[in-house]
Amino acid sequence: MNTCVNCGNKIGIFEKHKCNDGYICQNCYRRIPGFIRYDLKHYDVYIIRNIHGYFFNTMKYRFDSTASYGNLLVDEINGLIGIKSHDEISIFNALDLKDIDIIATDIFADKNNRVKCNIELRCETDNPPMMFKTYIKKNVFCKSKRVDYEHISWEMPSEIAVIKIVINNALQRAEEKFIKSISNDNLSLHDIEIIKAKALFMIDGEYNISSIKEQRDRLLKTFHPDNDHYIDDKYSKKIIHSFNLLKKELGESNEEN
Ligand SMILES: [Zn+2]
Repeated sequence: MNTCVNCGNKIGIFEKHKCNDGYICQNCYRRIPGFIRYDLKHYDVYIIRNIHGYFFNTMKYRFDSTASYGNLLVDEINGLIGIKSHDEISIFNALDLKDIDIIATDIFADKNNRVKCNIELRCETDNPPMMFKTYIKKNVFCKSKRVDYEHISWEMPSEIAVIKIVINNALQRAEEKFIKSISNDNLSLHDIEIIKAKALFMIDGEYNISSIKEQRDRLLKTFHPDNDHYIDDKYSKKIIHSFNLLKKELGESNEEN
């Protein structure tokens, strides 16, 4: 019988879910948002714990949706973004979502020559490190017309441009709030870089060279482009940059590895 690597409880044979370094139980699985579940086997348990923690915290935020599109909810006043999955809403601070993109995918023409597509949201977060894609709306009509016997021309649904503007509003609002909070603390740009690097490395206090080396290797391994994620080496560069910053803070030189 397996034990859940997250909570330590015994797992029944039909209730186990594979993650990268073991199995988790049905209960822990249920607390992971649907858009992460499909990719669970790539996540280490230490990241899963951080994912639980992240959504546990953001769940407490006041969320007043000002706009919605399919499964995507946006709170432009509080700078938050929510994704509905399995009757639950997972809430993000808009600032935590990096490289957010909304695309039309699975485009097809039905027998009446009407073009339809699905709308997909793709984004990543640094802390906890997550990368995901999820359908926010399916079977959306695209403006289209028949060009000739073989071809139909079509346009992206115009709502995509609108929802991007709404997300941008939320992002600006979240940025304003963030700048306000740090200007109260009198932090320098360097301090902010260190805070971000610590967040990426999930450091919550003291650290040493071996702990950040270990974390760097874990992160690089988990988010390696070969690892079936749709990622490029930008993420690796970010990890290495943060590692060098943290190392410099310890007073060690950047040369040795
Ligand atoms: Zn569990």
